[in-house]
Amino acid sequence: MALLKIITFPDPFLRLKAKTVTDFGKDFQTLVENMFETMRDAPGVGLAAPQIGESLRLVVVEYKDEENENAKPKRFVLVNPEFTDKSEETVVDIEGCLSVPALAGEVERHYAVKLKAQNRFGKPIRVKAEGWLARIFQHEIDHLDGVLYPDRATRVFQPSEEDLENIRD
Ligand code: ZN
Repeated sequence: MALLKIITFPDPFLRLKAKTVTDFGKDFQTLVENMFETMRDAPGVGLAAPQIGESLRLVVVEYKDEENENAKPKRFVLVNPEFTDKSEETVVDIEGCLSVPALAGEVERHYAVKLKAQNRFGKPIRVKAEGWLARIFQHEIDHLDGVLYPDRATRVFQPSEEDLENIRD
């Protein structure tokens, strides 16, 4: 396994629309593992392939519900994801991004989402999420279309040390 370099704003690669994944072979499996390793090392809770310089519709997420101490981290690999439903209800919360270092922003997101995707082997899957996990999915899937959270933010700011501890990016 290997750590991958995370590219950062304003690299124009982050603005491209990523390509559909069609090859689920060995190189792709290695890429998925390397993305998990890179995300944990950063550390972050989500990473999209364009952030490491691959134009592929691939997102990895590892999320632990911090309100439930006994919860095990949930791992998601979403390939070619598409939203099938988004709640009318929205919530505003603070986000960060590994590709937009040292900043944070207030972003309005749908409270709950449903999506269809393929798993790492190409098998169709359906996933639903609410709250923070739904926010992570929306943030990461935006990366596949070249959208960064400051595009949607009502306010972008430089967080204090204390703020940083509270932002789970
Ligand atoms: Zn991001």
